[in-house]
Amino acid sequence: TQPLLQVRDLIVEFPTRRGTLTAVNKVSFDIAPGEVLGVVGESGAGKSLTGTAVINLLEPPGRIGGGEVILQGRRIDNLPQEEMRKIRGKQIGMVFQDPLTSLNPLYTIGEQLTETIQTHVKMSDADARARAIELLTEVGIPAPGSRIDAYPHQFSGGMRQRVVIALALAVNPVLVIADEPTTALDVSVQAQIIRLLKKTCAEHGAAVMLITHDMGVIAETADRVAVMYAGRIAEIGPVREVIKTPRHPYTVGLMASIPSLAHEADRLQQIDGSMPRLMAIPRGCAFHPRCPKAFDRCYEERPELLDTGKTRAACWLYAEETVT
Ligand code: SF4
Ligand code: MG
Repeated sequence: TQPLLQVRDLIVEFPTRRGTLTAVNKVSFDIAPGEVLGVVGESGAGKSLTGTAVINLLEPPGRIGGGEVILQGRRIDNLPQEEMRKIRGKQIGMVFQDPLTSLNPLYTIGEQLTETIQTHVKMSDADARARAIELLTEVGIPAPGSRIDAYPHQFSGGMRQRVVIALALAVNPVLVIADEPTTALDVSVQAQIIRLLKKTCAEHGAAVMLITHDMGVIAETADRVAVMYAGRIAEIGPVREVIKTPRHPYTVGLMASIPSLAHEADRLQQIDGSMPRLMAIPRGCAFHPRCPKAFDRCYEERPELLDTGKTRAACWLYAEETVT
């Protein structure tokens, strides 16, 4: 089947007085229809910028500096803003970290839902309201028939994020981009919201690009995962493979640092050092200063994604001519 979303050599850059900063550097991945792709990495790895570039909502001076974004066979990275707005409102739903950024405090959630529904499908007010109540039921809002007339501030954080998910699904999108959708929420409701997001998107047939720093969330939710490091994909593959047998030394360290996923003996293993700042990305493999396996080639040449058998990893250990 044709991928739903194809991202090819995507570059996100920021012009500065001291030159151009490349924050996302030739990132490529596909998302299949209905698939959940997790994008994981430390803050500053470029995962949010990648998601924002896909929907062409980069905040200036940030800009797409190259590459292509193709949705259902149609190139969308070079569309006029007006066209892109239609795609965002119709084919791509969005769920951000803070539900309040997606909701207008001055309107009831019913008004916001029915308006969204009616801008995409011609429907009477009564039908749109009925549809809105259906959506609120789907996302687990209790007593939706009366809660529909409440304002965002009258909901708890978790309930608000449920409303945002309803809003994202109201247009029957083919893709939902969720960026740290539970980070701002109470820990006690995070797992519920993640499960709800996964379940409702699956029911609507929507694929999900789930951006998070939390490998536990990825483990529970994603079909495939892309691990980002310093603006590039370090490793990408089926989530089970990446968790069970990570190939890239960075992914190995990342997995070992998650207590619930690591073996007792590995628990103290951490990745030494910190991710380089954009101004100071080392030449060769950006991970080499922290990599326990670095060898000559790593200091000079930057690895592209190489086949490891079950995943692809940007690491010279998987070059055919490398003897280990
Ligand atoms: Fe480590 Fe070299 Fe692989 Fe980079 S390319 S992750 S430095 S072994
Ligand atoms: Mg982010």
